[in-house]
Formats: sequence, structure tokens, C-alpha cells
Amino acid sequence: MRWAIALLAASALAQTFSFEPARPLQGEVLKVYGPDAPGSARLNSKTIRLFPQPDGRSFGLMPVGVLTRPGVYQLEWLDENGASIHRESLTVASAHFRKQNIVLNQTLSKLHATPEERSAVAAFLDTVSAERFWHEPLEPPVPGCLTSPFGVMRLHNGKPTGDYHAGLDQRGAFGSPVHAIAAGTVKIAEPFSLRGGTVALDHGQGLESIYLHLSRFAVSQGQQVRQGDVIGYIGSSGRSTGPHLHWTLYASGEPIDPLQWVKLSPCPATSSIRRGSPSR
Ligand SMILES: [Zn+2]
Repeated sequence: MRWAIALLAASALAQTFSFEPARPLQGEVLKVYGPDAPGSARLNSKTIRLFPQPDGRSFGLMPVGVLTRPGVYQLEWLDENGASIHRESLTVASAHFRKQNIVLNQTLSKLHATPEERSAVAAFLDTVSAERFWHEPLEPPVPGCLTSPFGVMRLHNGKPTGDYHAGLDQRGAFGSPVHAIAAGTVKIAEPFSLRGGTVALDHGQGLESIYLHLSRFAVSQGQQVRQGDVIGYIGSSGRSTGPHLHWTLYASGEPIDPLQWVKLSPCPATSSIRRGSPSR
């Protein structure tokens, strides 16, 4: 009898504290589930809020940073006072990110973000709204194939930038519509200097998305959008070498690989990454 109770207790505990995927890649996100109480979860230096869900559990999105070294880490659950209540180890596997060179002309390589652009994006990434507007599956913003995947280490004119591609580039004709990947609130709709025409959406509970290089806007700041709504149109504004859509998905303020959420095929001509494809 005692073993049966112990087994039941163990399985209840396993259900209370869980995460997926079991073996994330660098740049992926962990869906973290916890007990029905206010709390948070911690992985390395990152702490995220766990939000109460209708099913009686709590839930949050823990990004596994692109630059996290493959290896074994501890995921910790904390109560509302920040005291550790449970921990589990997890293995982060290598995503085998490749390198990509971008050829920029002088004008493009001199483009920088203005202080206003930097602070607007930083404020956007710093916000975690408690209401959840998103549900799965997310929808790709445009139907075009993938010209540049997430996570590739970027070189500009052959020189390493020390930076990685924080989003996806998708092919699309100038002026074609860009759709919201999920419902949310428009936090930014601005013509920025580096990012070009930019729309940023807050989907709630740690999920956010941003769309760059737009030629026109279809929404304005503060507006509520539904999944699939047109938010703007493809362009080549900002640091861009031709019309395409760059978009980034964020979990708790960090870029994550959208291909964990949506399916997209690489463009046939660029399936092995070569320079010359429109990107940023
Ligand atoms: Zn890009």
C-alpha cells in the first residue's frame, strides 16, 4: 500500500513540475509548468514568471539562449518569495548554427540605431504582460520560403560581427501583406533607422514578436490585433539588401528559434547558405 501512495505522490509531483522539450536545442524555448500558486522559474541567470492557467497549473516561457553552451543545467522552481521549491536537470543540445556573410554597401554598413530606436525596443522587450492573447499553433506572417534561418553567426563583408541572426528572413514581394503570428497588442509601429519600418506585438505571458523592414504600416500603437490580421507590408527599409520580411520571436525578452513553433521550408536557391540573398 505504501509503495502505491509513494508512486501516486511521485507522479503528482512529476505532473506539478514539468517542462518540454526534454532536451532543448540552443535558441529554443522551454515550456515550464508549475503548481497552482504564484511563483517563478530560474535557469542560469534568467528568472521568468509563471502565470496561472485555466487548467489549474502555472506556466511560463524560459528561453534557452543561443549562446548557452551545450551541457547539463539545473532548472529551478521558486515560490513567490524566491525560495527554491523544486529542481530538475536538463541537457541543452547543440543547434549546430552555421555562419553567413552579408555583403553591405557603405551606406548600409554605416546605418545605426538611434537612441530612440534602442530604448523603444529595449522597453518593449522588458515588458511581460500578464494577460495571454496567444494560442498554438502560431501562423507564419508570410507564406514565403526561408532565405536565412535563426541563429547563424553573421559576418558583414567578411568580418565577424560577433552577432547572430536573431530572427528569420522570409522571401516576399515588395508590398505584400504581413500577418500577425498570434493575437496581441501593437507596442511599436515606427519607421526606425536600422530596423526600418517596424511593428512589435506583445502576445502576453512572455511571448512577443517583431517585424522589420516594412514599407507601410496597417496598424498603429496601442491597437489590439487578432491572429492573421494584416499589420504591415513587406519592404526593404533600414539595413536591408532587398525586399524581404525579417521577424523575430521572443520569449521573456530573448530571441528564440521560430522554427520550434512554425514550419517553413528553406528557399531552394539558398538552402545551402550563400551570400547575396536579401537579408539583415
Ligand atoms: Zn533577418
